[in-house]
Amino acid sequence: MERNLKALTLRQLSELGEKHYNGIQIYRWIWKRGEENIENFTDISKKLRKKLIDEGYFVGKIQEKFRIHSSDGSIKFVFEDGYESVYMPEDDRVTVCVSSQLGCALKCNFCATGLLGFKRNLKAWEIADQVLQISKKLNSKVTNVVFMGMGEPLLNFENVKQAIRIMTSHIGLNIGARHITISTSGIVPKIYELAEFDRRVKLAISLHSAIEEKRVLVMPIAKAYSLNDLKNSLIYYLQKQRRRITIEYIILKGFNDKDEDVKALKKFIQGLNCKINLIPYNRVDYFSWEVPSEEDVYQFYDKLKKELDVVITIRWSRGRDVYGACGQLGFEILNKAK
Ligand code: SAH
Ligand code: SF4
Repeated sequence: MERNLKALTLRQLSELGEKHYNGIQIYRWIWKRGEENIENFTDISKKLRKKLIDEGYFVGKIQEKFRIHSSDGSIKFVFEDGYESVYMPEDDRVTVCVSSQLGCALKCNFCATGLLGFKRNLKAWEIADQVLQISKKLNSKVTNVVFMGMGEPLLNFENVKQAIRIMTSHIGLNIGARHITISTSGIVPKIYELAEFDRRVKLAISLHSAIEEKRVLVMPIAKAYSLNDLKNSLIYYLQKQRRRITIEYIILKGFNDKDEDVKALKKFIQGLNCKINLIPYNRVDYFSWEVPSEEDVYQFYDKLKKELDVVITIRWSRGRDVYGACGQLGFEILNKAK
């Protein structure tokens, strides 16, 4: 039987107690207050506290291996067997980028996490605890969470959903669902499932090309789900959730930034309530893609701006100097293996 209280659901915690609301109290201690010592759960009876301790219950926490500070203020944390999270403070918000898996099976050919291959799914509490531990260590209230660290969140969907329940609960981390973003390479059947999810988080789709043959070249998973199937799932999602989605588009210089790419993208987003987030490619040594210059990025941005009638933003990645930027997570493990 699981003895780590963080691994138990609210219902399971309630079953441990004498009264139904003991579950709520314990949940609040471990997730909202971040208390790690059962003896300090002062609003539950001494008897129950003793019982829990005697039966071997404890408050688990993920162990930080080390952290690296970026010159731009973001901090990359490496936890346990190597999964990484990135803390990114901005003026009015604090975002934590979390990992959902150690490594990733999908092997997009611009991404360091893909090079690692799939190692394991993170448990729900390990995902939520990335936010809690970082918040505690830095004494900083986290306002936003993005599932853009290691792994494909929709391929560890049950744990990701459970982690989101902890994050959004008012007796948990208390982060608004609107401030949580799931980024996916486009696992079509799971997008239909996400449309039914009762926590209304935001969705970002890693598109990177709206031309089938090109997308397949950089994202092997695109062989399993065509652009047409992907688009249909997004239409369904938008009908259900009525929340604008984000199309993520890495600029791979000379590959997906041509006129034909603009045209294809224009066609793909027709009828989709979306905005476009351009991500200049971040260097991953193993791949030979060229990093676009600032001028290249603005040139492509201007081209899109002229043709497309949607909001377009540019994500100047944070933490590039500590290999904490998009696509660079996994570097620490890869480096160790050398
Ligand atoms: N697996 C999910 C979420 C993690 S990746 C997904 O693919 O969406 C988070 C984002 O970083 C994705 O948009 C991904 O395409 C992008 N990314 C991966 N490698 C990158 C790189 N080298 N440079 C810039 N962005 C990258
Ligand atoms: Fe996996 Fe996302 Fe990296 Fe692709 S970009 S290999 S889906 S983590």
